[in-house]
Formats: sequence, C-alpha cells, structure tokens
Amino acid sequence: MKELITLIVPCYNEQEVLPLFYEEVSRVTALMPDYGFEFLFVDDGSKDSTLKILKQLSQNDERVRYLSFSRNFGKEAAMYAGFCEAEGDYVAVMDADLQDPPSLLPEMMSIIKNQGYDSVATRRVTRAGEPKIRSMFARMFYKLINKISDADIVDGARDFRLMKRDMVDAIVRMCEYNRFSKGIFGWIGFKTYWLPFENVERAAGETKWSFWKLFKYSLEGIISFSQTPLNIASWIGIFFTIMSFVGVVVVFVRRLFFDDPVQGWASTVCFICFIGGIQLFCTGIMGQYLAKTYMEVKNRPIYIIRETNKKKEEKPHETDK
Ligand code: UDP
Ligand code: MG
Repeated sequence: MKELITLIVPCYNEQEVLPLFYEEVSRVTALMPDYGFEFLFVDDGSKDSTLKILKQLSQNDERVRYLSFSRNFGKEAAMYAGFCEAEGDYVAVMDADLQDPPSLLPEMMSIIKNQGYDSVATRRVTRAGEPKIRSMFARMFYKLINKISDADIVDGARDFRLMKRDMVDAIVRMCEYNRFSKGIFGWIGFKTYWLPFENVERAAGETKWSFWKLFKYSLEGIISFSQTPLNIASWIGIFFTIMSFVGVVVVFVRRLFFDDPVQGWASTVCFICFIGGIQLFCTGIMGQYLAKTYMEVKNRPIYIIRETNKKKEEKPHETDK
C-alpha cells in the first residue's frame, strides 16, 4: 500500500485563497504518485464562506477532509486538532495563503527518505514584503527567547514542516493549553533538517495577525518556554534586599557619629515610588505565570469540533487483534 501524507491546513476566513491553494496543492501532489494524500483543512471558526468551499471541495475530492470548529480557537489550536486527527504516515502543516510553497514538498519528502531525518522544517531567509518594524521586533524576539529558554527556536522558522509519524505522536502528547508550536517542535527534539526559502507574499486575502496579536503571542512563547522572567524577579528582590541593608547601615552610622538633622525627603519619596513600581512589576510577572497555570489546571479542551465530514478511524487496540 502507498504511504499516506497528511497536509494540515489551518484556515480562518480564507475564502479568497482556498481555490488557489487547492489548485496548487493538487498540482504538486500529482507530481508525487508514489504517495497517497489526505488534505486536512481545519476551519477555525471562519465567518466567511470558507466552510462552504471546503464542503464543495470534499464532495469533489475524497482526499479532502475538513474539521470545523465551534468558534475561532486560533492557529495553534487548529494545528493541534490537525495533529490529533491526521492519519498519515507523514504529516505536514502549511498555511492556506500559499506563503508556505507546496512546491517544496517533493524535496522535503526526499530529504526525509534519503538522508535519515525525522522532519524537514522551513526557514525564511528574507522577510521581503513585511513591514520593517515588524521584522525588527521579530528578530529581537528570536534573539531574546533563544537566550532565555532551552527550546531551540530558529529565526525565520515557519510552522511549515513535514514530519514522521513518531514526531506527530510526540506532539499530540504535548497537550498543554498554552501552545507555542515553534517551541514545542524544538522541545521534542528529533533530527530536523532546515530548508531555507525566499519569503513569498500572501496569494490573496489578508493577514490575520495584528501587531498586538503577535506581541501577545511572543509573550506566550516566552512564558511557556522560559522561567527566566521569574528568576529576574527573584534577582531584583535579592538586589534590593542587599541595597536596603547597606542603606540601614549608612543611616545608622550617620545618626550615631555625625548626628545629621532630618534631610532628604524628596529622595526618600522617589525611592519608595521606585521600589513600589519594581514590586508591582515582579508581582505582575508572577501573575502571568499563575494565569497560565490556572488555564492549564482547568484542563479545558484545546478545540471543539462542530462539524466534520470524516471522523478519524479508531485504530484497534493491541488486545483486540
Ligand atoms: N489562522 C487560523 N486561525 C487564526 C488565525 C490564522 O487558522 O485565528 C490561519 C490562517 O488561515 C493561515 C495561517 O493561520 O492559514 C497563517 O495566518 P496568516 O497568513 O494570516 O499569518 P501570517 O502569514 O501573516 O503570519
Ligand atoms: Mg500568511
């Protein structure tokens, strides 16, 4: 039997681009006759006619499967749903907007087959067509997160990657609520080949990521994969404890030996305000971690499916054989 490749495609309001995507991906898969394909579209609560288009596609092509969420859960949840439902021996994630060129698939597959890698990930070597300020912040983020976390996160890495079944199973086991896939892919390990490519602009439609959304996502990444902010809070605490001890000695000495009159009201007030600010800042850091812990402890489902054309076939248990 042919080996099966599942392509997971998260879609949120992608009605303009879906027909183009389907055309391109059909063209590329026709070039790979040795493999079977499953196109797993995840409709992340789209408000346009994305779902309608997916239904049409699935009627005309039995390789097309769709999962439709009960509301917008975000790209991370959509990818996770894809990983949980994928049936392929190999699984790839790619955006619907053709920014992840499907034409790279044959090359990615041959690297896995011939060079003994478990996955092939892609990396943009240029950020052409992206606002300058966005690129600048993105670079700063990658520098920072690599310094302070042990997950290896490559600058310019896209979520577009092809991987073997074992790796997919490992990802499915990482069932955390606050998901940051770039970190998760790095954390689980396995041998990954990095394939560089030139940035491609969105084929149609608009980006779903505002600057603010990206900023919050980057904080999510830092908090999920690093405890450094908590350590910084502790170090600031230790620093100020030592400083205050020195301060007490100074005040004592001045009072005992120099008999200073009361002075320095302004500096005292500034100092108290400053310390107050630092304390709130550190409490805030702890609050961020606590909030994430709270969401994890609730153990809510990461996504909820409202509609699908095909449920995953339950694999028989060992004992059923
Ligand atoms: N996406 C999603 N849910 C969301 C936002 C985005 O499934 O809440 C999908 C979107 O349909 C696309 C991919 O994630 O396939 C990447 O989104 P986009 O192209 O807007 O991001 P960019 O490439 O600008 O970073
Ligand atoms: Mg895009």
